[in-house]
Amino acid sequence: MDTLQAGQTSAPETFNSVNPANSEVIATFPVFGQAEVNATVERAREAAAWWAGLDWKERQARLLAWKSHLTRYIGRLAELVHTETGKPLDDAKLEIVLAIVHIDWAAKNARRVLGPHRVRSGLTALNQASYVEYKPLGVIGVIGPWNYPVFTPMGSIGYALAAGNAVVFKPSEFTPAVGGWLVSSFAEIVPEKPVLQLITGAGTTGEALALSPVGKIAFTGSSPTARKVMAACAQNLTPMIAECGGKDALLVGPDANLDAAADAAAWGAVSNAGQTCVGVERVYVVDEVYHSFLEKLSERMAAVRAGDDREAGYGPMTMPAQLDVVEDHIADALARGGRAVIGGMQSIRRPYVDPVLLADVPEQSMAVQEETFGPTITVTKVSDLNEAVELANASRFALGSAVFAGNAKKAMAAARALRSGMTSINSVIAYATVPSLPFGGVGDSGFGRIHGADGLREFTRAKSITRQRMKPPLNLTTLGRSDKDMTRLLSLTTLLHGKRYR
Ligand code: NAD
Repeated sequence: MDTLQAGQTSAPETFNSVNPANSEVIATFPVFGQAEVNATVERAREAAAWWAGLDWKERQARLLAWKSHLTRYIGRLAELVHTETGKPLDDAKLEIVLAIVHIDWAAKNARRVLGPHRVRSGLTALNQASYVEYKPLGVIGVIGPWNYPVFTPMGSIGYALAAGNAVVFKPSEFTPAVGGWLVSSFAEIVPEKPVLQLITGAGTTGEALALSPVGKIAFTGSSPTARKVMAACAQNLTPMIAECGGKDALLVGPDANLDAAADAAAWGAVSNAGQTCVGVERVYVVDEVYHSFLEKLSERMAAVRAGDDREAGYGPMTMPAQLDVVEDHIADALARGGRAVIGGMQSIRRPYVDPVLLADVPEQSMAVQEETFGPTITVTKVSDLNEAVELANASRFALGSAVFAGNAKKAMAAARALRSGMTSINSVIAYATVPSLPFGGVGDSGFGRIHGADGLREFTRAKSITRQRMKPPLNLTTLGRSDKDMTRLLSLTTLLHGKRYR
């Protein structure tokens, strides 16, 4: 049978999922074309009506049962994540734990956030009782990446399901087995209707989903792909969320705990082989502590290596093509006068990349401007936290960021001034572990939010209702409206809103 290798864009009938550490084929999957995708969405539409018709408690019970199933089978799922992505087992378990925490929050908070509630009507509409509620959109198409094949798509899937939608999920062509496992596990808990379905394939299948009659697309992947998905969504005016790449900066102030900052920077740079949308790719550190910080970070990065054995800090690069990007960024940084403090071009041992710490890299370099998505980091000296914020913000990406500083007030001020969607102070990526906090980017990092109340509302439409409780004091929406009614309205408006403000 014809096979499609991960990443290939033509669409034969099947493709293989491959272990990136040893190139062994894990499983073969069908490539869904437009007709199969449309048929899947049609089935999902029927399932969505059933799922939305359950009451909040019934949906909550099923989602919590799914959460507990994932918790009990965490070892099995982590093994599959490890095999398909190459990441160490414990890292796989960590991302599954985070996904579990999010499903739990979405299930327990959906009714509070989305259910009908009364709002104030205001003096002009005193005779009205006003209500708002958030209705599901029907079918949500989720297009996922491979780097966190459980945590990332579940940020959309869990919240979309909790909001009462059905989901058609297209995992990355690099991690279809993990996607399949998630969908099958849900079907064990909710066997009645296909509320969560799997479609497999590469870009053409994703495009087919974006062109199908779904209520919304939740896309996670690179910024260039997001542009293509948006163009496809434009054809049917299908709304979308874009969770795209990042170039996250970590700022180190003069009073920072340098051990903690170096520890966080090293982990943020190399964990998951740097293939983390909110990984740390740039550090801006103030002059006074630059040398000590660099020394501490160097020690930590020098102590880690990539590999497939138990002692290795992290695994191989999942996607072979990304190795070329990482290589180009290191070469460009060195050619422009940057210095490799740890590692260098020799760190690339396909499919592995050992840690690379670059200093004195000009801001125009690819390693500072583009998403590297590898275990590399640049460290740049700045005069103060203000300059650090300025340089961190001079990027077309704005996803996450981190600030290390002893003075809480200054750290908060820097965090607020950073343009990114999320910032953690004195830690890295902490916001992703807090389910009530929205997650998403600005600029080339995308738009829309997953997680938290915003993440639930993202998969709904607001429905507003007024109920007239008594005759209006002023008869305004009638053909029998009098001049007296209008005079009274304008007097009331002047009284309420006419005061001068300076
Ligand atoms: P990618 O853009 O190559 O692919 C993402 C998904 O889009 C895959 O499922 C792919 O098959 C699909 N796709 C490709 N072409 C398509 C098209 N024309 N129409 C519809 N779908 C299409 O990204 P990737 O390599 O899988 O993931 C890595 C990227 O994802 C990085 O940039 C990373 O920063 C980003 N990411 C972002 C977040 C976040 O939450 N912001 C999380 C994880 C990863």
